[in-house]
Amino acid sequence: MMASDPNCIFCKIVKGEIPSFKLYEDAETLAFMDINPVHDGHCLVIPKAHSATVFEIAPEDFAAAARTTAKLARAVKAAIPCDGFNLMQSNGEGAGQSVGHLHLHIVPRKSGDGLLFNWEPKPGERDRIAAIAERIRKLL
Ligand code: AMP
Ligand code: ZN
Repeated sequence: MMASDPNCIFCKIVKGEIPSFKLYEDAETLAFMDINPVHDGHCLVIPKAHSATVFEIAPEDFAAAARTTAKLARAVKAAIPCDGFNLMQSNGEGAGQSVGHLHLHIVPRKSGDGLLFNWEPKPGERDRIAAIAERIRKLL
């Protein structure tokens, strides 16, 4: 039995209990239009099995979602004139996740649209980067 949460809006979409603008479906994944698009062509890819974030998802489900995302990205790129393309996936409220069923956003971009991360990359301290890399490596 595939994991499903009766209170989850995306699980309800998977089960057909609420409508969606469905784009594609296979055994493991579903792709549908985002109903609050930041641009034309903004759509979502989900694994059908419920998991909240990247921390819980089975690697096979994440891999399946990645396969479907690459497939969808090519079709959206062909359908929508755009200057670039972001894939976006948020985990946890602190990262702006509003629906607790893992999903990947496919977001066509236009030059100068000012969307998404307002981050400011700046050269880091090498010692600090190295120490953090070591901390992460030990946990793999
Ligand atoms: P996030 O903020 O990354 O959790 O993204 C959740 C996304 O789901 C938002 O962009 C919403 O517009 C979208 N969304 C919420 N409910 C629905 C729905 N019923 N059908 C399609 N998209 C939805
Ligand atoms: Zn769900």
